Amino acid sequence: MCIPSFNFHIITTSFLISLFVFVSSPLHAEQVVVYSARIEQLIKPMFDAFTNNTGIKVKYTTDKEGALLARLQAEGRNTPADLFITADAGNLWAAAQAGLLRPFDSHILKSNIPEHLRDPNNEWFGLSIRARTIIYNTDKVDPEDLSTYEDLADSKWKKRLCLRTSKKVYNQSLVAMMIAEHGEAETERIVKGWVSNLATDPLSDDTRAMEFVAAGRCDLTIVNTYYYGRLLEKDPNLPLGIFWPNQKDGGVHVNISGAGLTRYGKNPQAAEQLLEFLSSISAQKLFADVNMEYPVNTNIMPDPLVASWGRFIQSNINLAKAGELQTAAVKLMDRAGYK
Ligand code: FE
Repeated sequence: MCIPSFNFHIITTSFLISLFVFVSSPLHAEQVVVYSARIEQLIKPMFDAFTNNTGIKVKYTTDKEGALLARLQAEGRNTPADLFITADAGNLWAAAQAGLLRPFDSHILKSNIPEHLRDPNNEWFGLSIRARTIIYNTDKVDPEDLSTYEDLADSKWKKRLCLRTSKKVYNQSLVAMMIAEHGEAETERIVKGWVSNLATDPLSDDTRAMEFVAAGRCDLTIVNTYYYGRLLEKDPNLPLGIFWPNQKDGGVHVNISGAGLTRYGKNPQAAEQLLEFLSSISAQKLFADVNMEYPVNTNIMPDPLVASWGRFIQSNINLAKAGELQTAAVKLMDRAGYK
């Protein structure tokens, strides 16, 4: 009695298998191609999780953001890339400006990502937050004397400030956001004040600036939080403290690592799925924690080490301003003598 039904079962199963083989033939094999300015170790864990969840393969190329942007531009309609990932809203804004990104109106992204951390035109989306904050030498500075970015222009900090070079997009975005907040004239006054308080010529990177502070060659600087985490992980005894400025006025300046769909990607639906996945609770935890950043999704706590730096109020001016005012910021820093 049960033999016929057994046969039927085998027939059904083999039919389904052949159907599955047909559907997943190479022509239809689902994949998504990513160009990423975030290095492999910061993206691979999320891509692996996405592939595990969906069966969609993720192929990726990593390089500097400038090289990837040039490549997207040169490839035009023929680009194999579906998704572009990079740090700093200034870079994402530039990609959108160059017509390389495609808007994506997604209620999932809108509900997972606060409004100020995504493009008003939906062409790019923040996926992790880095705060650009004040780091000070704990032997030389009483945090009671610290208050705002603007206060670092006060003559009480004469020959005590270290800054990273103005050539880095992080500082261009910081100054652009200050222009959005204060206007050009006031921002120029502040930046000139910073320059007149410098203890040494601007330094090549955030880590070097903190090393100068730790060595007593200056007393304080402005850096991205994850560099602070990385340096203290290497040497927990460094006399470096973290301070959250502007808690009563304007909030801490934040920036993002983020992504946008490319205009000419060949796998648009898989790319949309990946982007939405990266904003989800499970991926957000990984995306932020691997680089000691803060999740953009406010339903998630940061990594315990990052959380130990304390909570802070962040600026809620839309980060599109970092792009829109970038040229003005570069010119302003030049006028102010900030090299
Ligand atoms: Fe960085």
